Amino acid sequence: MERFKRNHLKGRVFELSKFTTDRCLEPTETCTRRAISAHSIQNARVLDRLCTDGHLIQPRLRARFGHPQVSFELVGRNEATTFAGVCGPHDDALFKDIEKSPTDYSTDEHLFLLAYRSVLRELHACVTSAVKLQFAFQAKVDLALIPGDSPTADGMLAVEHLANAYEFYLYKREYDDIYLEQKFSGLSHLRLFEPGRLPTVAVSSVFSLDNISIGDDVARIALNVLPLRGGVLIVFSFLQDHEQHIQPFLSRFQTAADDELLRRVSVQVLNSCENFVVAPSFWNALEVSKRMAMQELFCRSIGRDLKGFEASNCTLFSPAVA
Ligand SMILES: [Zn+2]
Repeated sequence: MERFKRNHLKGRVFELSKFTTDRCLEPTETCTRRAISAHSIQNARVLDRLCTDGHLIQPRLRARFGHPQVSFELVGRNEATTFAGVCGPHDDALFKDIEKSPTDYSTDEHLFLLAYRSVLRELHACVTSAVKLQFAFQAKVDLALIPGDSPTADGMLAVEHLANAYEFYLYKREYDDIYLEQKFSGLSHLRLFEPGRLPTVAVSSVFSLDNISIGDDVARIALNVLPLRGGVLIVFSFLQDHEQHIQPFLSRFQTAADDELLRRVSVQVLNSCENFVVAPSFWNALEVSKRMAMQELFCRSIGRDLKGFEASNCTLFSPAVA
C-alpha cells in the first residue's frame, strides 16, 4: 500500500504537469510547436544499410485475448523507429550532427547525442503508455464500471505507469542539463566494436536495471547498436555519477568477445529493448526455429527482466566474414 501511495503521488505530480503525447521534448521545455514523426535511428546511413526495398523487420506487440503477442514484421523505413517526441526545428537543431554529417563515434558530444535521442524516444513511449492507461481508467470510472476512489487493478496500473513516466522524465532532465551546459563528459560510455560483421540490426533504446536502486530511481542504461562500414558498434551509455552502480552489470560485456559478446548483446536487446530493427535479408534467412525462439524471448520478457536468459543461443548478428 505504501508503494501504491508513493506512486499515486508521483502519478498526480506528473498528471498535473503540461505533458501531452505530441509535446516537443526539447531541453528548455519552452517550445510550443507540435512534435513531428522523427527518426530515432540514423536514417541516411544506418537504415540504408539494413533495409530491403524500403522495408525493415521490427517487433510488433498486440494484445490477443488479454495476453501480449509479438511478431517480428516488415514495416516501411519511414514508419520504423520514428517517434513524435520533438518538433521539426528541434529535431534538426539537436540531432543534425549525428544525422546529416559524418558521425564521429569517438567524441563525447556525438556519443551523448546518440544516447540523448534514445532517451527522448523512451520518454515519449513512457508518456504515451501512461496517458493511454490513464484515459482507459478514467473512462471506466466515468461509466461506473470501476470505483475511482479506491485501489483497483486498472487504477494501480495507470498510477504505476504515470509514476514510471515521471521517474523517467526526471532522468531525461539530467540529460537536458548536460546538453544545455555542453558538459558531454557527464555521460559515460562503454564502446565495443566487432569487425567483419554484416549489417543485420540497429538498436536505440534505454533499459533499466530494476534490481539496482540509485536514490529514488533505478539504474538506467542507453544502448545503441549501429552497423558501420566494416563491423558493428555497440555503445552502452549512462550518467557518469551512476558508473559505480552500473559497472558490475557491464562486466558481462567487457569480459566477452566475438560471437559470445554478440550473443550476450542480442539477448540483452531481446530481453529489454523494444526500439530496434532487423535487416529483412538476415531475418528471412534464419531457420524458423531461431526466429520463433527470438520472438518468444522478446515476448516473455515484456514487463519483467527474465532470469536465466543467459543460456539462450539467440543472435541478431551475422557470423564474422573475412
Ligand atoms: Zn520544439
